[in-house]
Amino acid sequence: MKEHYDIGVLNGDDIGLEIVPEAVRAMRAAIYKTGLAVNWVDIPIGRPAYDSLGTTMPADTLELLGALDGWVLGPIGHREYPKDDPKAINPHPILRKHFELHSNTRPARALKGMPAIHPQADLVIIRENTEGFQPDRNVVAGCGEFRPTHDTTISVRVITRKNSRAVAITAFELARQRNNKVTAVHKDTVFKLGCGMFAEECRKVASEYPDVEYNECIVDTFAMRVVMKPEDFDVVVTTNMFGDILSDLAAGLVGGLGLAPGLSSGDNYAMAQATHGSAPDISGKQIANPFAMIISGAMLLEWMGLRHGDERLLKAADLMRRSMFAVYEEDQVMTPDMGGNASTKTVGKAVAARIQAA
Ligand code: NAD
Repeated sequence: MKEHYDIGVLNGDDIGLEIVPEAVRAMRAAIYKTGLAVNWVDIPIGRPAYDSLGTTMPADTLELLGALDGWVLGPIGHREYPKDDPKAINPHPILRKHFELHSNTRPARALKGMPAIHPQADLVIIRENTEGFQPDRNVVAGCGEFRPTHDTTISVRVITRKNSRAVAITAFELARQRNNKVTAVHKDTVFKLGCGMFAEECRKVASEYPDVEYNECIVDTFAMRVVMKPEDFDVVVTTNMFGDILSDLAAGLVGGLGLAPGLSSGDNYAMAQATHGSAPDISGKQIANPFAMIISGAMLLEWMGLRHGDERLLKAADLMRRSMFAVYEEDQVMTPDMGGNASTKTVGKAVAARIQAA
């Protein structure tokens, strides 16, 4: 157990500048309650860093992050970055790859009393995070997508035994904290080698967790079944692009992207990052929903608590999570996307007040 922790704060772009401060406000309040000492390290990234320092990811970013216990990263609005400037790179795939953040954990749980397509849904989708079809992170040099002729494009999909095993372990460990049930989603009927290897590794890991029920589901069947009966699933593990799509779908089932938190984790580092993007359409208006970012912050503290065997961090994470849910479910202090009229800051302050009063 450590005496003190270092946590990085990287606001990102657009609504990141509004929601990350609220996540940090809640984390600070919860940490204060448990008597922990945390050093908060602000690190410039994204468009604000480009405007002030000439690059979206300053040269010392990896070194600074490598010295931390974890960090909070706001959404990155890379679609708006200048296309022809190598200094305007999308930082988050680089961070996921560099720190070997192989698992992206994305919970989807409906809030009590809130409109949702599936009020009973409560599942977690864990996707592999650094390979698959994602061309900006599945090779160490160059790009995993190329155009040999003007009329042909080839996208390469990378699957490794190492990362398939790593993401499966993340899923089975989480299943033990939840309801002892894992479903691996793939399409080994067609991708016999790629999905086949992923499924083989999931089966090997399943044999090491005999207490956890293990099933498999073909991705297209899963897409239909999760829409009709999400309660059939608890922890779902899948490859990168399937998980990218299915986790947004699951967010849609429980009330939208504002409720979709996420944690990218590896064996040594973790990064809290909500599933949604930088929402430029609502940025600067103080109407962005901070729920996903706040719960992502709680997931980071929980990951740190499990890694260091520190009950205080686990307590802080639990307090944050319970307070965020209570502010929405009981106090009904909500942003406009949830049907409320509270600002981003008002929600953040209400969560911090709940934590302080607990
Ligand atoms: P988006 O997720 O930013 O927005 C989709 C819709 O959801 C918008 O209507 C937006 O207003 C709404 N929304 C998203 N988050 C919300 C929140 N917290 N509260 C309330 N409403 C919210 O997706 P997009 O518009 O396709 O992408 C915008 C930018 O974000 C692009 O530059 C894209 O490349 C980037 N992006 C980044 C990430 C990431 O950093 N992880 C993920 C997806 C997209």
